[in-house]
Amino acid sequence: MYADDEPEPDPYLFYLLFNDYQACESKVPLREWNGIDDIKCQQLPINENAFMLSSFYLNRTERPTGFLALAQNEKEGFHVFFREQEKERNLRIEVSPFTNSQNEVLPHLLYWEDFFFAPGVGIPDSLAEALIPYAGEIQKSMVDHNKVFYVELRSTMNQTPGEYYSTISVFDGDELVTSKPVTAKVWNFALPENHYSEVVMGLYNCNSGYGATRSIFALNGLTVENNGNPSADDLPQAKKILDGYQECLLDHGVSTYEIPRWLMDDDSKAAELTMADLRRKVFTVPVHRGHFVNGDFTDAAKKTISKYKRLVYDNPFLKDKAFFYLMDEPTGTESEVALLEAMSERLNELWPGYHAVAPFYSNFEQTTALFEGKIDIICPNQGAFDPRNSNYDLKQANFLSFQDRENHPEWFRTWRYQGDAKCGGTYFWIFNIQQLGVMRRVPFWQQWYMNSDGWLQWSCAYLPVNWVKKTLPGSGGIQTGNGDGILVYPGTLWGQSAETPIASLRLKQLTDGIEDYDYLRLGMEFVDESSLKTAISRFLWREYASDCKSVNKEYEFYAAYTCTYLQRARYEIGQLLDAANTEHNWGEWQIAVLPDKGHNGLEIRTCEGCGAQTSRIKLWDGSVVGDVNGDGLVNILDVTTLVDIILGVDDNGISDEAADVNGDGKVSILDVAILVDLIVGIE
Ligand SMILES: [Zn+2]
Repeated sequence: MYADDEPEPDPYLFYLLFNDYQACESKVPLREWNGIDDIKCQQLPINENAFMLSSFYLNRTERPTGFLALAQNEKEGFHVFFREQEKERNLRIEVSPFTNSQNEVLPHLLYWEDFFFAPGVGIPDSLAEALIPYAGEIQKSMVDHNKVFYVELRSTMNQTPGEYYSTISVFDGDELVTSKPVTAKVWNFALPENHYSEVVMGLYNCNSGYGATRSIFALNGLTVENNGNPSADDLPQAKKILDGYQECLLDHGVSTYEIPRWLMDDDSKAAELTMADLRRKVFTVPVHRGHFVNGDFTDAAKKTISKYKRLVYDNPFLKDKAFFYLMDEPTGTESEVALLEAMSERLNELWPGYHAVAPFYSNFEQTTALFEGKIDIICPNQGAFDPRNSNYDLKQANFLSFQDRENHPEWFRTWRYQGDAKCGGTYFWIFNIQQLGVMRRVPFWQQWYMNSDGWLQWSCAYLPVNWVKKTLPGSGGIQTGNGDGILVYPGTLWGQSAETPIASLRLKQLTDGIEDYDYLRLGMEFVDESSLKTAISRFLWREYASDCKSVNKEYEFYAAYTCTYLQRARYEIGQLLDAANTEHNWGEWQIAVLPDKGHNGLEIRTCEGCGAQTSRIKLWDGSVVGDVNGDGLVNILDVTTLVDIILGVDDNGISDEAADVNGDGKVSILDVAILVDLIVGIE
């Protein structure tokens, strides 16, 4: 079969790979389809020291061991890649627990990677895309095909720092084929419970006008009415699905635009708790231009505004998280400007000091000037910074203006949204089309030097109802291929629970980008500036040359097509933080959400330096807040009693917890107003 001078291929290839990688299904392990055979360069380094070797970047020898490092409270994954080259097997893998010398465990999760075909985007193979929970089942291997598994380490906030050891073993049935040891080092610093980056994405946006996103119910087997809502029979299950999707996204550092749709009406305390969840950075008050009719918001919209305002407006932990998504992509026409002014004027009465976003596509300077006093979350399409074809000076000016927060105090936040913008030869962001996982992380390094707060994406669960499983909607279809608008998939399609969506590999890579930004922000707080910049420059100067017009071809190649530069930069920042004293300057614990009989509450403390937060549960102490007269009910009679107590007419011995409705430690006239609101909310 093989000529004498041609070496026989190995019976299989077995690599442990960085997760900034999206494998093909059948190609020889080309990471790219254009002939760059550098999969071996994407292997985990053999040990800690290997990060520092110049050969780390280009070493193509098979590595017999794997090493990776992570902070406390971090998710860090890697691929187990197996290519069959000789015969079919009853393939399965085992990952032994990651344990340290005291037998403490570093938790991990295990998935197999399902391949999706991406038609119309020039990739002649399927790509590893969906991560399905894996419990050791046999996966029949095929000659000249790849099997890829995903190991995700999840360190806890208090994980003991140091090294943890595991072995990854590949079996053919019961027979061991091969194995590799892996060392995971946990650094002595923690990522914050609230990531620094604000990443907000659409999910089930019935209120935001994207009907297509409703398919998350249909594809999970529910009946969906013409108006996009689930049928009455399926509503309870629909609520569970939304809860599950929300939990999955929060777990990955992504805030959904809206809290679960029916929660505010079903259980306003639960709504308050999910708003206060530190993993959630922001949420919309679900009112927009469609609710503004004949010069005013509709009655229903005003009711929504008042429901949210009652919970949010006087709560310092929630107030600035709330925002209005007033308009989508305004182009600055006269009628739009008039509408924006009218909405803004009315909203300033209903919700003084409101925050709002209106993602916009073009005319950066004109549009941001138009927004003044009306829209304070500036969210341009990345095309505003794209100098590829023309207008280089204008795009550069936009970039510098966007970056310059000091001269724009009226901008409360800045986000970016999609657009395949390039700078020089390098993509500014790319979640779709290409399989270069590292590009899913680049936006968060850019966020650091752009002085920006985050990222907005129109949807993260968008699939057409007639979606063909394992096919990424192609450029000829509804959106561009490979993931524009899709980061999670319906679990039912793999026999999993409808309430737990399947995460894409791209979601994991995006989360790594969010965590990269945590490293950069922690570095700004705890590491000296020159060391931090040196570490960042291992990657970023290659990614973004100071002059966008000319990116050195050689560096462009490595930055854009391999992840090793990024990994080296991250590793070095991790080492600096590990050696630093990373104690935050915590303020006092404060009550963010009061507990009641049916719910635990939440306390939060905040670092005065960097805004990192940590939370703890506040248990209900048996008193019913607002039940001032102690009859077990909260109603108008309690208002009478409370007023009597304040006037000194009554002292019935009820606990202060019951009468101190606003939780400020005093019983005062302020509590009366809150109690009235509370009762109105209950009724
Ligand atoms: Zn801090």
